[in-house]
Amino acid sequence: LKERNARAIWHPMAHPADSQKNPPEIIVGGDGVSITDIDGHTTVDGVGGLWNVNLGFSCQPVKDAIAAQLERLPYYSIFRGTTNDLVIELGDMLAEFFAEDGLERAFYTSGGSDSVEIALRLARQYHKIRGEAGRVKYLSLKKGYHGTHTLGASVNGNANFRTQYEPLMPGCYHIPAPYPYRNPFNESDPEKLAQLCLAALEDEIKFQGAETIAAMIMEPILGAGGVIVPHASFMPGVRAICDKYGILLVADEVITAFGRTGAWSGSRLWGVQPDLMTTAKAITNGYFPFGAVMISGKVAEVFESDTSGKGAIGSGYTYSGHPVGAAAAIACLKETQRLQVKDNAAARGAQLFAGLQALQEKYDIVGDVRGGHGLMCALELVSDRTSKTPIDKATIAKIYRGAYEAGTMVRVSGNNVILSPSLIISEDNIATILAGLDTGLSQV
Ligand code: PMP
Repeated sequence: LKERNARAIWHPMAHPADSQKNPPEIIVGGDGVSITDIDGHTTVDGVGGLWNVNLGFSCQPVKDAIAAQLERLPYYSIFRGTTNDLVIELGDMLAEFFAEDGLERAFYTSGGSDSVEIALRLARQYHKIRGEAGRVKYLSLKKGYHGTHTLGASVNGNANFRTQYEPLMPGCYHIPAPYPYRNPFNESDPEKLAQLCLAALEDEIKFQGAETIAAMIMEPILGAGGVIVPHASFMPGVRAICDKYGILLVADEVITAFGRTGAWSGSRLWGVQPDLMTTAKAITNGYFPFGAVMISGKVAEVFESDTSGKGAIGSGYTYSGHPVGAAAAIACLKETQRLQVKDNAAARGAQLFAGLQALQEKYDIVGDVRGGHGLMCALELVSDRTSKTPIDKATIAKIYRGAYEAGTMVRVSGNNVILSPSLIISEDNIATILAGLDTGLSQV
């Protein structure tokens, strides 16, 4: 199978030859918070699938809902003229779930990249309807990750995901992220750094001309960029600047929505109401490709009261509002609330963060530990703490392998080890993750 994999498949975010050099594990089973490979080796999944399997791999109500819906109506589109009962029920549930975030409507997508694409398009359209067609540019954070479609890739803060495809969308500008460990201001105090980044944002807006900017997109906690947690003043500061200049704020909550940060949304964690919110991943817990863009009352009102025809939405997917996906999402949302998973995320997240800090004391190679808000943590590995030189690929691969053999699956991204297990994880399983990582680190 590994040979055939190398011959037949190109993997996302990898060089096509990588699977020959380093054959990937073949995962054949998932149970609770653990996965099993084809050799029968079971590991606690420290990654929670890909930050999405919040309820674990054995969530029976979700499996039942999917099976029942497949029997009843496996597919029908919600393009003009038809809808289905599932998407209506889910729409009501999402509006209630995100009411505190000021979000009232759902636009369904097939995943995170789609959600980003739609949100950024809606932002431009919002301005067009209001007679400000010149607002076409986008702002985002360096280190931010917003998926792989052309708009999302253009606002991605990490050049590694952009350069292969440039020229991408013109008019996308990247603002320094509030990343205390490394930043152009050499500022390690998170609050002062937040202020400097906010000033940089405002400078960019003035330089570009506010009347040319449609939206600012940001993750409340930056995920794929290495779990960068902004100071609590940062997102409220972004909100205030967006309001001052008439720019829409898009919260990219593909990772952070539904409890991962210990709050029901990342925006709520910082007390901010975004204009648009992207969701995907945990909306169906990984069991079905699905997503939703949540739309605030302020934005909905502009579209819905339009009489000129400019409010007609020109975007949508064959799988927008897929009934099986909607059935999965309804079951997930019910389980998410029944289990109040945000509370376990907060408690187990604190345990994980403290354990990672202990590893930093034990190993010089651990340059920075990030997290502290739910089950989103990262270790940044360096060959030297003073120069902060990123650890090389071979060393981090050894750590990954050592942890895997010791019973822990972690995610490696650049010189970061990222941890984002399921939100239903137990204290013992967090201890297993930490022990596995300790073993991996001890081998280098
Ligand atoms: N936005 C964010 C914040 C993400 O983390 C991701 C995926 N990791 C995406 C968008 C893209 O989502 P998808 O992979 O489902 O297209």
